[in-house]
Amino acid sequence: KVRTRFAPSPTGGLHLGGVRTALYNYLFAKHFGGEFILRIEDTDQTRFVPGAEEYITETLKWSGINPDESPANPGQYAPYRQSERKPMYKEYAEKLITEGHAYYAFDTPEELTAMRENFKSESNPSPKYDFTLRDKMQNSLSLTEEETKAKIEAGIPYVVRIKMEANEKITFTDLIRGEVSFNTSDVDDKVLLKADGMPTYHLAVVVDDYLMKITHAFRGEEWLPSSPIHIKLWEYLFGIENMPEWAHLPLIMKPDGKGKLSKRDGAKLGFPVFAMNWTDPRDNEFTEGFRERGFVPEAFVNMLALIGWNDGTEQELFSLKELIEKFDITRVHKGGAKFNYTKALWFNKEWLKQIPGVDLVPAVKPLLLADGVTEKQIDADIILAGVIDLVKEKCTLLPDFVKQADFFFRRPAELDTASAIKKWTLEDAKFYKEQLIPVYENCANWTAQNLEELFMETTQKAGIEKPGNLMLPLRIMWVGGKFGPHVFDVAALIGKKEALERMNIGLK
Ligand code: GLU
Repeated sequence: KVRTRFAPSPTGGLHLGGVRTALYNYLFAKHFGGEFILRIEDTDQTRFVPGAEEYITETLKWSGINPDESPANPGQYAPYRQSERKPMYKEYAEKLITEGHAYYAFDTPEELTAMRENFKSESNPSPKYDFTLRDKMQNSLSLTEEETKAKIEAGIPYVVRIKMEANEKITFTDLIRGEVSFNTSDVDDKVLLKADGMPTYHLAVVVDDYLMKITHAFRGEEWLPSSPIHIKLWEYLFGIENMPEWAHLPLIMKPDGKGKLSKRDGAKLGFPVFAMNWTDPRDNEFTEGFRERGFVPEAFVNMLALIGWNDGTEQELFSLKELIEKFDITRVHKGGAKFNYTKALWFNKEWLKQIPGVDLVPAVKPLLLADGVTEKQIDADIILAGVIDLVKEKCTLLPDFVKQADFFFRRPAELDTASAIKKWTLEDAKFYKEQLIPVYENCANWTAQNLEELFMETTQKAGIEKPGNLMLPLRIMWVGGKFGPHVFDVAALIGKKEALERMNIGLK
């Protein structure tokens, strides 16, 4: 059974790249009828940021990327937070030590600095922590078993490091990049277990992918250089044949293609780069989100899926269901894909057209309420749904609905009679007061079509030659100015009582 995971560290808000990683893992798992897991990788306590996990959970929920197993909804491989799994990693570190693939290292920070200084050379300006250097320094690796034991018993702090083989070629097949090779000499003897007994990412990710039976793991390309460490750990601990298949996802680039899209670019260029608003508790720095900018999740996810992937056709609009059907990880481009905000807006506009008004009510209503429209003025959600359907053509982002829908619920504060001054004659007023209003008062079937027919009949009876001329004043009475959708659609939606009242006010 296919099992994928999204394994973020709770270090802050989720930017586009992070959510896309989650999305691709999700789409792939669901395409094969498998499971998608959320695992929180919080072993680096120094980078832990309060609120970040909640933020991640909420983002996935908003995006519709629902994990089958997660800290909030644990499955059979619980717990799903690495900090809560701390005791599970030690035995694997010990196994590696016993089998000669890892070692206790007692270096103090000063010793580490000295080691780097001593072995610096022109060809090797920043020497890595590798065990050949360690041999030269005659310390930890050369300690006898007794010496090591004595140090541990004496309470001298230690870490456990992997012993990377020198000069070994490691190759694996990445689902996006194809065959990728490394030389182990280019990799450090990374720490696996820290002084406080917490594993590092490298150990924890391998152990958990194994214990949680992960079959495929897609992650950002910044992890590609770590893959040789992970491959060696798989080989030593669980057998390379059990290792998940990997894909390393390309970066999302700035709109001009010059470098990686960063949190700061959003603020600079005027668009969001995070999924939802995020205020970092460390420095109170605020980063705007797509959700709050007024994107609907359907558009967000659609846009995100297409940064670096397509299904080979010209199709651009995909529902989540269609994405699941069509997604193919091997079609993800190797090169970084540029983020295009104009295109993101296009997706949102298209999705607003696709989503029925009723389904947009929960997103639009709070915006209207925040703008001062009252529940009572909205009256019924079904009316709001009708309004949304009527004006959505004019909207790109959700907040656009406030301007486009406001006048349905709030009486115009003032009437732009200047726009219609030529038509706003006494004679016209007489027509409205004495003929149209009585007809409308008797109207039992308050629909746009009926209102229009009654208007035409009444103008005809009154012998008005150009009935069209009498529509603009009506519009102004109903919405306040020269804007809005078809005038009788407006009247139908605001309802009989309100429409008549607005006419009476306008004609006072
Ligand atoms: N915890 C890592 C991160 O924050 C996960 C990398 C991986 O998926 O292996 O990106």
